[in-house]
Amino acid sequence: MKKAAQHPFAETLITWYKGHARDLPWRRTNDPYVIWLSEIILQQTRIAQGLPYFYKLTEAFPTVYDLAAADETTLFRLWQGLGYYSRARNLHKTAKYVVDTLGGKFPDSYAELIHLPGVGPYTAAAIASFAFGEASPVVDGNVYRLLARYFGIETDILHSSARKEFTALAQELIPISDPARFNQAMMEFGSLQCSPIPSCDTCPLQTTCLALRENRVSQLPVKSKAKPQRIRHFHYFIIEQAGKVLVHQRQAKDIWQGLWEFYCVESTSLKEAIDLHPFLSPLMEHAESLQAPAMHVLSHQKIISAAYLLQLPAEFSFETPADYQWILSSEFEQLGKPVLLLNLITDNIALKEILEG
Ligand code: SF4
Repeated sequence: MKKAAQHPFAETLITWYKGHARDLPWRRTNDPYVIWLSEIILQQTRIAQGLPYFYKLTEAFPTVYDLAAADETTLFRLWQGLGYYSRARNLHKTAKYVVDTLGGKFPDSYAELIHLPGVGPYTAAAIASFAFGEASPVVDGNVYRLLARYFGIETDILHSSARKEFTALAQELIPISDPARFNQAMMEFGSLQCSPIPSCDTCPLQTTCLALRENRVSQLPVKSKAKPQRIRHFHYFIIEQAGKVLVHQRQAKDIWQGLWEFYCVESTSLKEAIDLHPFLSPLMEHAESLQAPAMHVLSHQKIISAAYLLQLPAEFSFETPADYQWILSSEFEQLGKPVLLLNLITDNIALKEILEG
C-alpha cells in the first residue's frame, strides 16, 4: 500500500529527530502509566530537574496499583522540591480512579484521557500519541515557538484562541503513520534547535522558515506581557519546647496545600505579625532571628520570608493554636514541606541540629 505523503515540514523534523533525540527513559516505553507519570512530572519542570524524580517515583511506584495504594505523605515526600503540589495530589487521585473505576487500565484515547484529573490538552495528546499511536498533536511552549516562527504566525500565544489555532495547524501536519515521533520531534526541535535563542545557522528548516526569511525570528512568537507577580511576606516562628516543634499542614486553597510548616503568619512586618497573633508576644523573649532565604520565587508569586527560632523553657506554657500540633522535632524531616523551608533548614545549622533530634 502506498504511504500517505508527509508534509515536508514533518519529514524534515522526523529526520532531524532521528539524529538528535535525547535518550530519555520515558521515550523507551509505550506504557501509558509511565508516560503519564513522566508528563505530569515534566509539567512546569525542566527535564534535568524532573529526571531524578522520574526515577524515584517509578522505583517507589512501579505500577498504577502501587501509586493508588500509596499514602499521600509518602508521595508528597518523594515529590518534595518539585513544586506545584496540586500535580502530586492529582496524580494520586487519578491513580486511584484508574485502579478503582477502570480496573487498572488507562483510558486509550485523547477524548477519555482529557477527563482525568490534572490532564489537560497537552498531556492528553502526549499520552494518546506516545502510548496508543493516536494522531493527536501536542502543543506546548516549544511547539508554539516553532510553529509561530516557521509559519510566521502573529497570534498572541497567551490569547485564549491561540491553542485552537496552533492545534489545528499541527493537526494538518501530523503524519498518521508516525504521530508519536512527530510530536516528540516538534517538542525536541523547539527545545534544542528553535529554542528562545535559536540556532538558525544550522537549522534544517532554514530555507523554508518564514520568520528567518522575513527577519522576524526575534519577534516571534508574540506573547503579551504576563500579569505582575504578587509579593507576599511570610514570618515563620519555629516554636520548640522539650524536644517538640509546633507544626501544621496547609489546608486552605493556596500555595503548598497539604505541605507542613512551622507557625506561619503572613504580614508585612514582625510588629504586625505579633499584633495579629498576640500570644507570640511573650514567646518572643526567647526568639533568635534565623537567616531566611532572601526571596522565594514561584510562578505567580514571590515570597519574602523571615524566620525566628523560639526555644521555650519546659515550664513555659501557652495554649496550642487551633490547627497546629506538636510533633517530635525529629519527625519534621519525614513530612513533605515547601522548598523554602528546606532551604531555611539547610542554611541554619542550629535549626538543622534541633530537627535532627
Ligand atoms: S530557521 Fe531559525 S527560527 Fe526558523 S525554524 Fe529554524 S531555528 Fe527556528
